[in-house]
Amino acid sequence: MSIFIDDELCTGCGNCVENCVFSGVEIIDNKAIITENCAFCGACLDVCPVNAILIESEEFKGDKIDLSQYRGVWVIAEHYQNIIHPVAFQLLGKGAELAKELEVNLTFVILGADFDDQLDKISLYGPDQIIYIKSPILKHYYSDLYVEALTDLINENKPEIILIGATPTGRDFAPRIAKRLNAGLTADCTGLEIDQNTRNLLQTRPTFGGTLMATILTPNSRPQMATVRPGIFQSPEKMKKNTEIKKIEYNFKEKDLVSKIVKVIDREKSTINLEEAEIIVAGGRGVGSKENFKMIEELAEVLGAELGGSRVTVELNWLDQDRQIGQTGKTVSPKLYIACGISGAIQHLVGMQNSEIIVAINKDRKAPIFKVAHYGIIGDLHEIVPVLIEEIKKIKNEE
Ligand SMILES: Cc1cc2nc3c(=O)[nH]c(=O)nc-3n(C[C@H](O)[C@H](O)[C@H](O)COP(=O)(O)OP(=O)(O)OC[C@H]3O[C@@H](n4cnc5c(N)ncnc54)[C@H](O)[C@@H]3O)c2cc1C
Repeated sequence: MSIFIDDELCTGCGNCVENCVFSGVEIIDNKAIITENCAFCGACLDVCPVNAILIESEEFKGDKIDLSQYRGVWVIAEHYQNIIHPVAFQLLGKGAELAKELEVNLTFVILGADFDDQLDKISLYGPDQIIYIKSPILKHYYSDLYVEALTDLINENKPEIILIGATPTGRDFAPRIAKRLNAGLTADCTGLEIDQNTRNLLQTRPTFGGTLMATILTPNSRPQMATVRPGIFQSPEKMKKNTEIKKIEYNFKEKDLVSKIVKVIDREKSTINLEEAEIIVAGGRGVGSKENFKMIEELAEVLGAELGGSRVTVELNWLDQDRQIGQTGKTVSPKLYIACGISGAIQHLVGMQNSEIIVAINKDRKAPIFKVAHYGIIGDLHEIVPVLIEEIKKIKNEE
């Protein structure tokens, strides 16, 4: 990749310098100069008023494949103790939108041992087809078997898009399959759309430590594979649908496996369920101290809400790690999210911006959290939160 400045067009206005988070451009003698820190992110291109900056990427030199052979959107499910992970249903919701735009079928793929009784229930989530790969050994997740069976199935059916949960299991098998298929895989997507002109999947995800959102394309290979964290998309409304069910019996042998599951140990169940919570009250550095967090806890308690926080509050040991919301924490989408003393850094926003209603309390009227908030309260949370608690208590007593 190369980047150029057209000296004749450049006016030295400095917009590029102001918008570069990498110190990748400087103004010398009234002209922009690219430095060795440039990360080719393209932020400078977007803000240059005279289009003086140009990024050239090398032409694709691999074998061109016939993209028109690939049709259909697939969602690959995962399960534990015969219960399908909710992210698979959330992906069916998004998958249906993509399939509709592309005018293709939506397929749900499940590998398991004992799902015959659940297939009708799964069809209510809207797939046109369910492919059920059945084998007694698939009661548990085996990386090798998933990679083997799914690679064959994909090669045979040629879907154009494959969506997988960005869970530890999905993150394990997705890249192995992508490598075998020589396909592009974008991890941890927060947005998926179709470019109607090219049928390419526009895969958006945070990048450069969350400072930028990048939209990634896989224009030259198929399928286009994406993983998505739980909670980013909504499960679809259930509906009656004539779903075609295709069952494929596999005769996997345990002796053929490279690894063997000897024992499955349940992790101690956390009582914290941020991903499923309908109301979340979250605190940030603005709360001030661990002691002050009691007030945030009380607000959560009167609302029947879960307690969450920004990464800073975890680093300061005010909250446990499993209450962190954001890029390196949980992704949540409650009906109500109350952010107290949280600035709204992009790494926090990607974890909560899909909440139905966001209320932000912050003393800085320019805090970025107000850009995503539906209701903003500008002021000191130490004055505002106690009033909220009292008012909610009053309303509850009146009921
Ligand atoms: C790779 C990477 C991953 C990251 N992952 C995450 C993540 O998963 N989650 C996450 O949250 N962050 C994450 N971060 C950190 C993120 O960049 C921010 O630093 C962090 O979110 C800031 O937390 P904060 O909003 O609590 O603190 P600050 O940014 O310091 O904001 C505190 C806010 O409180 C307000 N305030 C102060 N006092 C009061 C008061 N008395 N009343 C009302 N308002 C007040 C201030 O005006 C300010 O807006 C990550 C960073 C990186 C680089």
